[in-house]
Amino acid sequence: MADTALMPIPGQVDPVPVARDITPRADGRIDLIGLPKERIRKLFEEAGLEPKQAKLRAKQVFHWLYHRGVSTFDAMTDIAKTMRPWLEKRFVIGRPDVVEAQHSVDGTRKWLLRTADGHDFEMVFIPDADRGTLCVSSQVGCTLNCRFCHTGTMKLVRNLTPGEIVGQVMLARDALGEWPKGSMAGLDEDVDNAHYTADGRLLTNIVMMGMGEPLYNFDNVRDALRLVMDGDGLALSKRRITLSTSGVVPMMEKCGEEIGVNLAVSLHAVTKEIRDEIVPINKKYGIEELLSACAAYPGASNARRITFEYVMLKDKNDTDEHARELVRLIREYKLPAKVNLIPFNPWPGAVYECSTPERIRRFSDIVFEAGISAPVRTPRGRDIDAACGQLKTAAEKKSRAERDREAAQAASGS
Ligand code: SAH
Ligand code: SF4
Repeated sequence: MADTALMPIPGQVDPVPVARDITPRADGRIDLIGLPKERIRKLFEEAGLEPKQAKLRAKQVFHWLYHRGVSTFDAMTDIAKTMRPWLEKRFVIGRPDVVEAQHSVDGTRKWLLRTADGHDFEMVFIPDADRGTLCVSSQVGCTLNCRFCHTGTMKLVRNLTPGEIVGQVMLARDALGEWPKGSMAGLDEDVDNAHYTADGRLLTNIVMMGMGEPLYNFDNVRDALRLVMDGDGLALSKRRITLSTSGVVPMMEKCGEEIGVNLAVSLHAVTKEIRDEIVPINKKYGIEELLSACAAYPGASNARRITFEYVMLKDKNDTDEHARELVRLIREYKLPAKVNLIPFNPWPGAVYECSTPERIRRFSDIVFEAGISAPVRTPRGRDIDAACGQLKTAAEKKSRAERDREAAQAASGS
């Protein structure tokens, strides 16, 4: 485990920051989801398999778990029938528990999920004409307190494990029925598995923009995304994955080198005073430091731009001067950049309001006229609190009785 797993997290509720990559289960079995092939091989050896057997079985099981998405050992048809109960006794194929699944009028879906040790977190799927984006959580809660973000009002409960992170993607594929089908006959070292790919999928993109700051849970996010990108795993291209950070500068280079996905940065303000107020991590890593780290981000180029997210807050960060300063900064640091303007999504108790549509349009035009793409993001799933920054576990927001009442109303079509 690299040193970052032990990086102290400000405000962490664990008494001691612990490197925890497998959530212990009450029945003592080990959940294989989240583990790489090599780790599975070692576990099989420790459980008594001969080294050669362990290696072969790990390869087969890995493929079934992550590429084919099976959820029982019985479905692993190329593993001897006698071997399957042996696996079943020692291991499980986990998924986060689904507490609640909601569907927005605009097609957006939100799931309230629960870890094996009883913590709730959320995941959102946003279908579009040409793509389907899964918004994945990295932590339960967040240590940072961006003032416009509902998740920021939750305490950090804990980091999600690699299994709980990759488990979200697997659960979404389960729900959308998108695992490759096809015969497994004759799978061995030399078989070309290319014909297992499923085209025309709904889930095409992943954004690490759910609950939490992914760069404060670096090792687990990296290990999960490696399984997502592995050609024999979920096989999603790194070009279709975006990690969003509020600006954890010391981890950005490592993110580019060890994960290599697209980077989005929650900039949201162009002056120290305003960014200090709305994105408090700015007091630790200021705008200059952040933009220098962006300029040095491995893999960024005109073909793979860095996305700057900018939430539009009325009378706070939305003037023409702010837009011009944004352009100036992008030029000064020679950043291959695009800007994503996010209309502020309100939540109960928020101290900000969203800028007017005219203001947002004007801001966008100024950036756009400077030759920088600056689309305004359409809020999605607002009716089910699934839009950016609205994620906060329903358990904290509402009583169970309230949710049951709502579910009954939805079912009766009112
Ligand atoms: N913690 C990471 C990723 C999760 S948030 C980060 O901060 O980047 C994903 C995006 O939604 C971020 O840009 C975040 O600043 C933005 N966001 C948070 N609350 C919002 C709100 N109420 N309205 C609009 N965008 C919000
Ligand atoms: Fe955490 Fe991101 Fe919300 Fe800030 S915007 S509180 S970093 S989840």
